[in-house]
Amino acid sequence: MVTRAGFTLSLDCEGLWGMADQPKVVNAGLICDASLAQAYGLISRLLDVNEIKATCAFVSAFAAGPEALLAHIPLLRELAFQSPAWFAQVLPAIEGGRTDGWFGVTFYAALRAAGHEMAWHGATHLSLADHTSADAVALELQLAARLFEALGHSPQTIVFPRNLVGHLDQLQRAGFQTYRAGPPAGFTGRLSGLINEWNVLDGRVQAKPYMQHGWHISPAGFFLNWPSGARSLVPIAVTVSRWKSLLRAAVEQGGYVHMWFHPHNLITAPAMQGAFEQIMKEVGHLVRSGDMVSLTMSEANAHFAHSNERGVN
Ligand SMILES: [Zn+2]
Repeated sequence: MVTRAGFTLSLDCEGLWGMADQPKVVNAGLICDASLAQAYGLISRLLDVNEIKATCAFVSAFAAGPEALLAHIPLLRELAFQSPAWFAQVLPAIEGGRTDGWFGVTFYAALRAAGHEMAWHGATHLSLADHTSADAVALELQLAARLFEALGHSPQTIVFPRNLVGHLDQLQRAGFQTYRAGPPAGFTGRLSGLINEWNVLDGRVQAKPYMQHGWHISPAGFFLNWPSGARSLVPIAVTVSRWKSLLRAAVEQGGYVHMWFHPHNLITAPAMQGAFEQIMKEVGHLVRSGDMVSLTMSEANAHFAHSNERGVN
């Protein structure tokens, strides 16, 4: 029996936290409360209309809001002391009351109320890769635990900041169970990613969620093309065709399609909104016809457990 095809959308929800080390982006004002509200509003509506449940991985500080964060400012200062470059823009902005673009309390609340899986994307988006010290990761976990307590929620799924996987034992001890694997690294990985954007016959849907060292791991997934720079050469129609090909292949083969992007990508490259809308509509059709199941990251492993038993790992 062929397993029913599965679709996962994971969103890296971070506002300006993901670009905290880029003063130009932080000061440009393009990513602000108003533009974020428009992007998150569009995403919420399209998921709702098409009956799709997403995994929304929030930076804890972005989800918690300024008052909650200021209540733990000594922890933030300690983190900044350890990683001054990452926090060079953060501390002056937060302590100076310049909150525009840094907080997504209402987006977090709306997505949570709609029943999406709320996951973790770091406390401050500091990298959790192995080049970050275990002490700094411990501080991130401490800050996250306090902010989650205020939110009344403890996520068990991680989308690693910058897609850099690390400190797995420490994070497992803190209660996390599921993560999204990083994409192929380096120039070759980026180049093949770009070339694949043109592949309208893309049918690579065999990679399934799997278990390793007690973790539920979701394959790296496909980035919804962000039509900016070299990627702006890829027409929206090509992007939509490529995703339809992936979805079709998944239905035919009982495969898995995992899409990811950052909601703020819809602000910096608005053409992406149309592509997202058309692809979600297609997923919605397949979900309603029973050809495909919408799965959060934490649900995907159980759905594909049967194929895992056949030795996919
Ligand atoms: Zn991020």
